[in-house]
Amino acid sequence: MKKITSLPFYFSTTYPPYVVLSPEQVALRNKLNDMTDRGDIAYEHVPCLCGKTSFAIIGAYDRYRIKQQTVICTLCGLIQSMPRMTQKAYSWFYSSDFYRKLYDHNTPARVEDITGYYQDRYSKKRYEYIASHIKAPIINILEIGCAGGWNLYPFFKKGARVLGFDLGPDLVAKGRSLGMDLNVGTIDDVPAQEKFDLIILAHVLEHLANPKEILQKLASHLKPQGALYIEVPNIERYKKFLGDIQLQNAHLYYYSPTTLLPYVKEAGLEPRPFTVDILGPNIGGLFYTTKAVPARATDMSHEYTRMVSLIRKNEWRYRIKHIFLKLHILKLLASIRNAIKRT
Ligand SMILES: [Zn+2]
Repeated sequence: MKKITSLPFYFSTTYPPYVVLSPEQVALRNKLNDMTDRGDIAYEHVPCLCGKTSFAIIGAYDRYRIKQQTVICTLCGLIQSMPRMTQKAYSWFYSSDFYRKLYDHNTPARVEDITGYYQDRYSKKRYEYIASHIKAPIINILEIGCAGGWNLYPFFKKGARVLGFDLGPDLVAKGRSLGMDLNVGTIDDVPAQEKFDLIILAHVLEHLANPKEILQKLASHLKPQGALYIEVPNIERYKKFLGDIQLQNAHLYYYSPTTLLPYVKEAGLEPRPFTVDILGPNIGGLFYTTKAVPARATDMSHEYTRMVSLIRKNEWRYRIKHIFLKLHILKLLASIRNAIKRT
């Protein structure tokens, strides 16, 4: 596979992680990489969502320096983790210390964070966006990947019936203590016949190995006028495009507006509306089932060229910045030498 960049934060083992890791986190990260080297963790190669298997390499490490290759599909431009852990290996990973302690989720959220901190930071804005676009009463709500239920909480306070599933037992217990019906589980645990006015999928789709199947399944749980709220990070809108903060081995797909919409539409869902910068550097909106036969994702070959040129631009910016940094350091050394000579 050809490499399209050689930027050090994608390939260097010594490049610092995007945040300072504690000695315990470094030890965990190294242990995980050793396990990968020894073949103790199962990885798999799967075709892109477009069905093709033609990839170019973007990087070999994620933001914590976990060994995780990131590639781009040369046909549709979708950036993804490949090879990636098998579903069984990911289930183990999410329930392990590696995920809890390496990712920020190790900060134990308090009950008052569900009603305070998370409301002010994200959930109130999500609630306002949804409420401003849906005029019909929202009575039944489902959230997959609900964590402590902070997105459900504003609806719950208004008297709606909320149901949430998440794999983190601690957060689920905290949300339950507020009276919300939160459960440890996944979409597979949603009662088969239940239909909802609203389903929330916020920062979850990028973690899913089979997004199209999950979207189809969620669509089958919508009432005829029910809406699915989707929100994912937008690979293009972070300050550093595809920079050292974004790559993480828990993200299987990195969506842009061009690569998200066709695959959601393929699941038989239509946006009304679709919003870029929906909440900070994220994309998403409200999606409704359509009677029309789902269209296959159309030609997205231009997306690969566009992504490659963005990555190259980023590389140039990085190299030029480092040349200047080096020159500045040389200047500084020269002035110190002169100062010493004068004394
Ligand atoms: Zn593809």
